[in-house]
Amino acid sequence: MTVFQKIIDGEIPARIVYEDEHCLAFHDVSPQAPVHVLLIPRKPVVSLDELTEQDTQLSGHLLTMVPRIAEMLGLTDGYRTVINTGGHGGQTVFHLHIHIMGGRPLAWPPG
Ligand code: 5GP
Repeated sequence: MTVFQKIIDGEIPARIVYEDEHCLAFHDVSPQAPVHVLLIPRKPVVSLDELTEQDTQLSGHLLTMVPRIAEMLGLTDGYRTVINTGGHGGQTVFHLHIHIMGGRPLAWPPG
């Protein structure tokens, strides 16, 4: 079981900023920017690679929630969204998540 599943199940604490029946957003435990939140589906999708046609509505919901959560977080000057996938993508937790980062200008490209 992943650490994000434990957060969904309430087994470990998280600083939750938004939740509904389909998803959950909480502060990253090791923030890489002044604001660094993770948005995850409650459904245990491993990564982008595991999404199926059945997840089209869920995927759309997650994406639609990003600007709303960014607004809640006060990210009025913009923000970065990142989805790391697999080893070369730098994924370390194998439950799909969207990083929402902001609060300072962010460099591009990433390393
Ligand atoms: P990935 O590297 O898979 O794209 O991102 C995983 C993220 O999860 C990392 O930014 C890491 O800091 C965060 N993370 C790992 N364990 C925990 C945890 O127990 N709680 C929270 N809130 N974030 C975590």
